[in-house]
Amino acid sequence: MSDCLFCKIIKGEVPSTKVYENDYVLAFKDIHPVAPVHVLLIPKIHIDNLNCVTEDNIEYISKLQIAIKEVAKICGVKDEGYRVICNTGENGGQVVHHIHYHLIGGKKLGSKI
Ligand code: AMP
Ligand code: ZN
Repeated sequence: MSDCLFCKIIKGEVPSTKVYENDYVLAFKDIHPVAPVHVLLIPKIHIDNLNCVTEDNIEYISKLQIAIKEVAKICGVKDEGYRVICNTGENGGQVVHHIHYHLIGGKKLGSKI
């Protein structure tokens, strides 16, 4: 496993506020929330970003997709709605290079870009 920040969170070397976990996925609160609900979902293997999703690691991404609604339910936003964002690469604003989905909600969100 890589020693990137989110791999360290998976290994428990960096603390996080866990929201949900299974064999493939970890979800934890974003340290700088932009809305009342702001959770990051990550696969439990290191994948840099969407450009690195392949047939070999797609199982983790599939599990991540399925976990979204579980996290939304736990956070109480499943029915009212929420937004999922996956920043990719420099122009996409990706800062942490371990693929992650931002699940954001708990208020009416602004413009969709
Ligand atoms: P991105 O810009 O899409 O790469 O987003 C990275 C996100 O990780 C930002 O929203 C940060 O607030 C968040 N973040 C950085 N370090 C931590 C941490 N130790 N625990 C939780 N969230 C973090
Ligand atoms: Zn990583």
